[in-house]
Amino acid sequence: MFEGDVRDVRAVLPAYAIGVGTGPLDGPVRNSVGGRPFLDDGQEWPECFCGERMALFFQFDIPTDLEVFGGDHLLVFHCRAHNDASDPQLADGRLVPRYWDAPQPPYPRPFWRVLLQRHAERPTAEAEPSLRALPLTLQPFLDTPDAGGPGARAFKVGGAPSWAQGPEYYRCACGADLVYLCQVPEGMEFAVHPGLPEQPYSIGADTYGMFLSNEVYLLACPAHCDPAAIWPVNQN
Ligand SMILES: [Zn+2]
Ligand SMILES: [Zn+2]
Repeated sequence: MFEGDVRDVRAVLPAYAIGVGTGPLDGPVRNSVGGRPFLDDGQEWPECFCGERMALFFQFDIPTDLEVFGGDHLLVFHCRAHNDASDPQLADGRLVPRYWDAPQPPYPRPFWRVLLQRHAERPTAEAEPSLRALPLTLQPFLDTPDAGGPGARAFKVGGAPSWAQGPEYYRCACGADLVYLCQVPEGMEFAVHPGLPEQPYSIGADTYGMFLSNEVYLLACPAHCDPAAIWPVNQN
């Protein structure tokens, strides 16, 4: 390696591996599976078009050293009753206007809601009723994709997506190119309290999953044009 050759340094991307603790949680925490969502003032708990309140799968503060979204609070909600893959709807080379609320055929609206909240100082009064509340831990690691290649296949924020089928990017309705933020590995299931209705197509009777257990790559709008301007790419 010649002096000044920094290819290897450039190929290392800051990232955090996300771990699910064993809990249970005593009070509201900002980094959790389930629990009490921290939402901006005026932001309601999302509801699915079917009328069910969506389940809070996880939330965490994005570490401040991660570019673009550092300091934001990420929350991922998904309906229990509706479990399907996301299907991008495009117009003029972009995701359709207000794609986070737009029809998702055959559904009248998406069955998930991902939010980036920029204030999120207080937790809601109620806790997520279905998923068991568990702490999340964020452990820094260096994701080391080869010259633009895929990153580690892990539950993580930052770094590079591992792309099960190859890179897939979208332009936001506002015109900004969405930026990869967070990855949920294929087949990841989240424990629920006993006695709840089973989720269609989920792997376990006592767990819920998201997007038919596809690998999920969250791409978010770097312009922050709306708190819900995030697209969940699904691959397997
Ligand atoms: Zn629903
Ligand atoms: Zn946007």
